[in-house]
Amino acid sequence: MSVKDKIAELRVSLPPHVTLVAVSKTYPAEAIMEAYEAGQRIFGENRPQEMSAKQAVLPPDIRWHMIGHLQTNKVRMIAPYVDLIHSVDSARLWQVIDREAERAGRTIDILLELHVAQEESKHGWNEAELMEWLASGAFRELRNTRVRGVMGMASFVDDREQVAREFGRLKTAFDRLRAAFFGAEFDTLSMGMSGDYPIAIECGATMVRIGSSIFGSRSY
Ligand SMILES: *Cc1c(COP(=O)(O)O)cnc(C)c1O
Repeated sequence: MSVKDKIAELRVSLPPHVTLVAVSKTYPAEAIMEAYEAGQRIFGENRPQEMSAKQAVLPPDIRWHMIGHLQTNKVRMIAPYVDLIHSVDSARLWQVIDREAERAGRTIDILLELHVAQEESKHGWNEAELMEWLASGAFRELRNTRVRGVMGMASFVDDREQVAREFGRLKTAFDRLRAAFFGAEFDTLSMGMSGDYPIAIECGATMVRIGSSIFGSRSY
């Protein structure tokens, strides 16, 4: 199936309240343009250099989402244009994004990345640590960032029940954080990839990040 057909198919199959992020990391600008011509405007990348190189040559109405682990020294590169950073996994990173947003004269939307998968390698806060930091109230001084919600990943396993349990934990944490610290603008639960997005949607995802099932398998 072509990229264009795949985008069209997703557009009719995703519920209307679920936003599609087309994950274009490793794919060339031509593939992004094919999705763009099919009406897709939100693209996700995981490396700042790659995202900036693409942003420089592709249409200005594309909304670029940073979905990968972000080093603090790379924030400045993307601060002038990034639409949403999904992968805020430490207070330090959050503070740097806030500072760079101010420097760029804008407010940057962020998601807090929570670790719920069994794999050690995945980034993200553990919920207790995040709660503790938020309870300190220090985040309220970070006025150049706007916290829009939570991002997370389930384990890469075939066990549907386990995946659903992990997405369920993200949804519970999302609801709890929203009630305790945030308000109506905390409206985004980013979870679900090519292999597991239908389960994520059943569990309450409002944003899914889909790459390989749109663009084909990746060659690194
Ligand atoms: C690569 C990636 C995706 C998309 O993965 P696919 O399996 O290609 O759909 C989603 N989220 C994150 C954080 C990623 O790094």
